[in-house]
Amino acid sequence: TEKNVIMDETAIRRALSRIAHEILEKNKGIENCLLVGIRTRGVYLARRIAERIKEIEGVAIPYGELDITHYRDDRSDEGKSSSEAGASAVVSSNLMLNADSAGIHDQKVILCDDVLYTGRTIRAAMDALMDCGRPRMIQLAVLADRGHRELPIRPDYVGKNVPTSKHEQIEVALKEYDGKDEVSIISQ
Ligand code: 5GP
Ligand code: MG
Repeated sequence: TEKNVIMDETAIRRALSRIAHEILEKNKGIENCLLVGIRTRGVYLARRIAERIKEIEGVAIPYGELDITHYRDDRSDEGKSSSEAGASAVVSSNLMLNADSAGIHDQKVILCDDVLYTGRTIRAAMDALMDCGRPRMIQLAVLADRGHRELPIRPDYVGKNVPTSKHEQIEVALKEYDGKDEVSIISQ
């Protein structure tokens, strides 16, 4: 195995700052916007983007967490191919919103995740969201887009495009969960 660091702490901080600015620009502020992080690491990314938006605009953006118990856990079943795993799809899903949020009805929901790959997690996340109400719009922010989409899904905000082969993995370490900030490509 070979590991190549592609984003360090500074690069991650800058990418998230840029995404915060892009969100503000695209939505002309944050009115009716709601950030929703996909567990596990998407939650920390959503919180950091919310903090940056607070620093830039001086207003708090509501945020929530979406738990998609999915065929792919970030680390434990790396060996599974997406197609064999796709059959079991979503086992359960759960949306939690912070107290000052008005729910998702008629809101612009910005989903946040660490890595975008086939798109199946985001499809499941959109299903789960729509079961909770009718958002006005759904947007997608990811720290890394590694390609290989199997569905017509594309991110609105991307920290870094990382062309990978299917044999490579992206390792995302975030301070809140992993003790450091670093994104690497792992090749077997
Ligand atoms: P997808 O559903 O698009 O195939 O995969 C995206 C989901 O699986 C994300 O929630 C992400 O956390 C995880 N994932 C997929 N590929 C990778 C990868 O190479 N590295 C990491 N860290 N997570 C991945
Ligand atoms: Mg994940």
